Amino acid sequence: MIVSPLLPSFCGYIGGQWRGTESDGTIHVHNPATGEQLAEVPDMGAAETTAAVEAARTAMQSGSSLAQRREWLEAIARLMVDSKSELARIVTLEQGKPLKEAQAEVEYAAGFFRFFAAQIERLEPHTLAETPKNCQWTVHHRPAGVAALITPWNFPLAMLCKKFPAALAGGCASVAKPASQTPLSVIALAALTQRAGLPAGWFNVVIGRSGPIGEVLCTHREVRVVSFTGSTSVGKQLATQSAPHLKRLSLELGGNAPLIVFDDAEIESAADGLMTSKFRAAGQTCVCANRVYVHAAIEESFLRAVQTRVEALKVGNGLENGTDIGPLINRDAWDKVHTHVRDALERGARKITGGEPQRPDQPWGCFYPPTLLADVIEEMLVCREETFGPVVAVSRFDDEQAVVEAANGTPFGLAAYLFTRDRPRADRVIAALKFGHVGLNTGTGPTPEAPFGGMKDSGYGREGGVEGLFEFTEAQVIADAI
Ligand code: NAP
Repeated sequence: MIVSPLLPSFCGYIGGQWRGTESDGTIHVHNPATGEQLAEVPDMGAAETTAAVEAARTAMQSGSSLAQRREWLEAIARLMVDSKSELARIVTLEQGKPLKEAQAEVEYAAGFFRFFAAQIERLEPHTLAETPKNCQWTVHHRPAGVAALITPWNFPLAMLCKKFPAALAGGCASVAKPASQTPLSVIALAALTQRAGLPAGWFNVVIGRSGPIGEVLCTHREVRVVSFTGSTSVGKQLATQSAPHLKRLSLELGGNAPLIVFDDAEIESAADGLMTSKFRAAGQTCVCANRVYVHAAIEESFLRAVQTRVEALKVGNGLENGTDIGPLINRDAWDKVHTHVRDALERGARKITGGEPQRPDQPWGCFYPPTLLADVIEEMLVCREETFGPVVAVSRFDDEQAVVEAANGTPFGLAAYLFTRDRPRADRVIAALKFGHVGLNTGTGPTPEAPFGGMKDSGYGREGGVEGLFEFTEAQVIADAI
């Protein structure tokens, strides 16, 4: 069992109280590296979710000024930074990623609180310079209503912290539903909000059966925004469920990111960029390069540069010093990755490095050897679907227009990367790419200061940036007769 000063309880958090469930159901949370049981948390359902929405509504009724919200945001950010090591340990224990990545996740997550605190004055009402219709016009940014925040397991802390501080800045109280596999980081965050003096009801956590919880969140009249990060299939289901109730949706869904290396790219730095993008969370990120297109003229040198780096990666328990790649989240994830690799090899791909993967006997300890494949073609699963694992799949190209078409040849549109020293080419290609985030000569992903989100089947809405602030507010316009 995990023991942590940040986990005073293994319960949900409703109206400022740690709460279990009226049913006897529990969920066991395991360390994916070792199988150790970390905690038993309540399997909550519709009744607790309704109570959480009511608690959020009650909190909002007391109102809050921008200055007050800024103080809350800053206080939570400070406590997160002060607790960085312990928060990171919880993230690693329940998710499996290396401790250094978990620490980066905590910093990234705290950055959203700081950013929205710093930008909150953008929500001040403003009066238009024009006076049409003989009126003075003033725009207010009102809280939209209770915010439902549903998040996945790959960044158990950060995915929630892209949403919650924006909602709080906008004056919305939240009901968070973390992934059942990784609820502990969000429980720890709830404990920090309590320490930071956030009044009861502004942040609520329900853990448990996604069906009944999702049903309440998509249909309850007080919930006005549903902000979801996860798979495209569940995102579409939530959109369908909430459509009759006209909820505002923000959907951060799956990806299938292309990474294009042109023949004039700096090969070593392109290889570094690929490593940055590809291997975080063992390749289980929505923005990680899934399809790598390399110009034929530099393919062999690029493959050698990547091979050296891939072979230097240390796979193991995220808590151990020097670990670069932790376990996959479970055996289903392992099976998916292995199916993709086998399919590619059967269809003619070349394995440059990767060893012999051994299917684990248990649902934990699902380590997959970092694998580099060449001669990949678009019919292969590694190209068509999000592999979500430590596999680099390299295809060859020799024509700019053809590679742009191939990169766009997916229903997804979340992240893309290109490496070239030719600026006009970069501008041309970026304008043609249908992706919400584009890295030029870098493998870096999102940052709190910039809006992040997808196009097409990767969803809609933006997190981070000023745009993220307005996801939780409604513009109210007052026409005041002069
Ligand atoms: P998932 O199965 O869609 O689950 C995500 C969250 O939704 C979990 O909390 C899950 O709860 C909940 N959920 C599942 N079914 C639900 C329902 N019917 N109603 C309400 N909630 C429901 O996704 P995942 O497999 O955990 O995450 C991986 C996916 O997320 C990948 O496709 C990845 O690309 C995407 N992702 C996207 C972004 C982005 O910013 N665009 C970021 C990270 C990940 P339970 O855990 O209880 O099932």
